[in-house]
Amino acid sequence: MPRTIQAATLRTQVAAIIAGTGSTSVEAEQVAANLVLANLSGHDSHGVGMVPRYVDAAAEGGLKPNASVKINLDTGPMLALDGQRGYGQIVGVQAMELAIPRAKQHGTCVLSLANAHHLGRIGHFAEMATAQGLVSMHFVNVLSRPVVAPWGGGDGRFGTNPCCIGIPLKGAHRPAAGPPQGGAAPSGGGDPHAAGEPGGDFILDYATSRVAQGKMRVAHNKGERVPPGYLIDEHGAPTDDPGVVVVPQSNGLFGALMTFGEHKGYGMAVACELLGGALTGGGTWHRPADTARTVLNGMLAIVIDPAKLGTQASFEEEASAFISWLRQSPPGQGFDAVQIAGEPERRARAAREHEGIWLDDATWGEIVAAGAKVGVSVG
Ligand code: NAD
Repeated sequence: MPRTIQAATLRTQVAAIIAGTGSTSVEAEQVAANLVLANLSGHDSHGVGMVPRYVDAAAEGGLKPNASVKINLDTGPMLALDGQRGYGQIVGVQAMELAIPRAKQHGTCVLSLANAHHLGRIGHFAEMATAQGLVSMHFVNVLSRPVVAPWGGGDGRFGTNPCCIGIPLKGAHRPAAGPPQGGAAPSGGGDPHAAGEPGGDFILDYATSRVAQGKMRVAHNKGERVPPGYLIDEHGAPTDDPGVVVVPQSNGLFGALMTFGEHKGYGMAVACELLGGALTGGGTWHRPADTARTVLNGMLAIVIDPAKLGTQASFEEEASAFISWLRQSPPGQGFDAVQIAGEPERRARAAREHEGIWLDDATWGEIVAAGAKVGVSVG
């Protein structure tokens, strides 16, 4: 039976399973909080549904519980880190906690993070920066099954390569306290009390595939079809069956996701691979698919302090004027209002904190089975 679970309960259950992979209780709670926050934000594809995959990846040895970032280079404004295959929810936060004070000191920090295990929702890291009044841009590649086809190609050659831009929009919305701590969930780019209200920071965060692979898993588990233009099948023909990228097809091969925006999204995906994979040293994908459950991410992040650029006052004034100009656009057909990136997530958090998180039967069954693999009963 599908079920609705309150966030706090789900955090406890997921933390128990993550601890079963060998994580300390502190690490397990931080990973669980991050995953549940993704569900709360409306991104079920990057929430607790990833737990079975993490359990398998830890068992394979591709994910290393309790690993921390290794600093390969630290010149202040340039920071090169190796995530050492640790939980992305841990090493990604550690990386940002190193980059943020450096950006504040030097005005900018160029951060490269190689070999992080799955970083989850990239917006989480941008929210850490915007909560401190910093701009942050993220280019990420995915070393896993190559599930996205190049524009003009007929099979998967790279991952869903997300990119993310966080821009702080209003000093008044920023918490007065210090930076978010390792385990603490960022407020979502604004005053948590303002969640669901217009306002808060601009957090643009998406996969360069037309949709995230995890959303195809969710759709497949729900037995849904998807709109045209999302997928090609194992022969390179258009299809609306999300199963083509979830389970091997009759010939043993998978189909592929299309990039968003045709050749333009394809170009962004390649940029993410070159910056997140090649420039970080984590590596690019150029080999046939394998069956490994490990998902490694490389991330290049550029963090900028507008106060150090000398344009803080005009930045705040002009950004605010532009956002209100956007909001004055009359709603188009089928829309209630113009929204700013980051707002849908804040609205979802406000609703789901209250209503709980809905999990379909297949996803919950997989989580229960993952728990059983590490001797944890959450059924
Ligand atoms: P999506 O298609 O749901 O787009 C989300 C973005 O669009 C957000 O910035 C959101 O605020 C904005 N948005 C949505 N509706 C809007 C509206 N009406 N008006 C204005 N802005 C709007 O996202 P996605 O491509 O499915 O990606 C989901 C998540 O998956 C992201 O958090 C991404 O980081 C993550 N991801 C991670 C990996 C990885 O390997 N770690 C890979 C791919 C994707």
